[in-house]
Amino acid sequence: MTLPAPLPAFERPQSGPLVDRYGRAHTYLRVSVTDRCNYRCTYCMPAEGLKWLPRTELMTYEELTRVVGAFVRLGVRRVRLTGGEPTVRQDLVTLVAHLAAIPGLDDLSMTSNGERLAGLAGPLARAGLRRVNISLDTLDPEQFRALTRTGDLRAVLAAIDAALEAGLTPVKINAVMARSVNEGQVVALARHFGPLADRVQVRFIETMPFRDAARVHLPAAEMRAMLAEHYTLEPLEAPQGGGPARYWRLRESGLAVGFISPITEHFCQACNRLRLMVDGHVRTCLSRDDTPSLRDLVRAGADDAAIEAALREMVWAKVAGHEAHLDGDAFRAFEGVMTAIGG
Ligand code: SAM
Ligand code: SF4
Repeated sequence: MTLPAPLPAFERPQSGPLVDRYGRAHTYLRVSVTDRCNYRCTYCMPAEGLKWLPRTELMTYEELTRVVGAFVRLGVRRVRLTGGEPTVRQDLVTLVAHLAAIPGLDDLSMTSNGERLAGLAGPLARAGLRRVNISLDTLDPEQFRALTRTGDLRAVLAAIDAALEAGLTPVKINAVMARSVNEGQVVALARHFGPLADRVQVRFIETMPFRDAARVHLPAAEMRAMLAEHYTLEPLEAPQGGGPARYWRLRESGLAVGFISPITEHFCQACNRLRLMVDGHVRTCLSRDDTPSLRDLVRAGADDAAIEAALREMVWAKVAGHEAHLDGDAFRAFEGVMTAIGG
């Protein structure tokens, strides 16, 4: 795997974009608005759930809006809300309205499991949300229930319809794939969403190694080979924004399919993303959780200049890349659990 090297004689800038010592400018922020979730996906959290943060430790909507405003002043242009499950936080529409009003923010989107989204898609779109990604790993109702432990496939399919109706497009379907679990769904999902190719994309995600996930790792190259038995795959230019997915178009249906391969097709070199946790910590890399809390800074009365300075310092200290990798059956896992990191 190739990780970037620090730029020689590159000093931390006092103005301009949020750069690290590897010269990577950060324009994309994922904001976890809650650590709670109404699902218990097998690859994400234990069946009994997690020890949720006490409410007083969650940043309020005012605090979140203030902190996100600081990121935007330092060059972040795209913000994605995530969780846990963002739709379980009360009155999410109000937060979306506050964030959408931040000057300079070009794109506000959300990743959701869809269970509660059908009724919220319209109000969220009217409040300023532009797009949604909806997680859906299988079209088989029983397998869906088994993978999510609590979910109802019909609710998620209704959420996809509602998101399309509300114009939250393109709707990106995120499908986490695991060997011997749902690998048959690679082709099934491509078939199902083919007729919606003008407004839907499907992204296949390699299971990331949290806990024992290495056993079921299914490389993106194998998923492409499965599709190639039924479709002609034509490489697509990376869409604007430089996300981690690499895209192909299925010539026969026109559907764009993306592959996110944090393990086999490492993308640290071009990483432009930061993650704000709901307790105010910033994960500058998915694999790290070592910054001070911006919530604490705000609650201690810091002014905007102090928040911006803290942010510059955190990003400057970002590591070259994550060390999660697979080597046969041995792997080094990410720290933490996915539901707290928000994907
Ligand atoms: N609850 C929302 C959802 O499921 O869409 C948002 C948070 S969830 C943590 C964000 C994304 O991370 C989802 O698409 C989910 O499928 C994915 N995810 C969770 N655990 C994962 C893992 N171990 N490997 C790869 N993706 C994972
Ligand atoms: Fe919840 Fe999303 Fe994790 Fe599933 S993947 S348990 S829906 S946070």
